[in-house]
Amino acid sequence: MTVWRPPAQFNRVQVSRDLLQDTLDHLDDGLNCEAIAYWAGTEDGEDLRVARVVRPIAYRGRRLVIVPVEEVSRVVNECMSFGDFLVAQLHTHPADEDHSKVDDCGTVSKREGFVSLVLPFYARSFTVETPSWFGYQLLNGVWVNFDIERIRVTA
Ligand SMILES: [Zn+2]
Repeated sequence: MTVWRPPAQFNRVQVSRDLLQDTLDHLDDGLNCEAIAYWAGTEDGEDLRVARVVRPIAYRGRRLVIVPVEEVSRVVNECMSFGDFLVAQLHTHPADEDHSKVDDCGTVSKREGFVSLVLPFYARSFTVETPSWFGYQLLNGVWVNFDIERIRVTA
C-alpha cells in the first residue's frame, strides 16, 4: 500500500464547478439544520485538486453537526482505498458567525494544512456563481484565516 503524505503547503484548491454544485446540493437541503461535507482529492502540481465530494453520515441540529467517530474511520478508510486524502471540510452555520470552539475541536482532520470552510445561512445564499463562505486552515496547530481566493472553481 502506498503511504501518501498530503502536503501541508500548497498553492490553491481546485474544484470543478460540477463538484461545487454537488457539494452545495448536499449542504443546502432546505432543513433548518447544519450540514457537512468533505472534499477528497490529490495533489496537482502546486495545487490540490478535489476529486470527489464525501457526504458523511452526521447528527444534525439547528446549530450543530457531528460526524460520529465510526463514520470518520469509514471516510478515512475510503480515502485509502481511493488513494486520495481529505482536502477540506465544509459545513453550514445558521448565521454569519465565526468558527466556533466546537468547530476547532470537531474538525475531522488534525492534519497540518487542512482547510475548514464555513458556509453561512445554511448555504442558502450560496451559488456557484456567487460563493459566500469563509475559511480556516490548520497551521502550526492553530486555526488561522484561509484566503478564500485560493479556491479556484474550474470548468
Ligand atoms: Zn460550525
